[in-house]
Amino acid sequence: MPKKVKIDPDKCIGCGVCASVAPSIFVLNTDEGKSNIVEQYRTENQYVGEIPDEMESEARTAADSCPTQAITIE
Ligand code: SF4
Repeated sequence: MPKKVKIDPDKCIGCGVCASVAPSIFVLNTDEGKSNIVEQYRTENQYVGEIPDEMESEARTAADSCPTQAITIE
């Protein structure tokens, strides 16, 4: 089952930590000052995506590193 990854843009402060620990999933959008899901895994919008199971631990590392708990994984 692919995992759904979401960034809450209201919580994201654009620090870039997620994009540096999990660059295959997150990219910092410098125009918005928010993290986005990389295009490859994006679904309904830039804050929502689906990743393969084997990338879950990378996503969790990013979620655990986020200073504002803006990332959720389902
Ligand atoms: S680590 Fe959290 S606050 Fe920082 S850019 Fe990523 S989602 Fe936003």
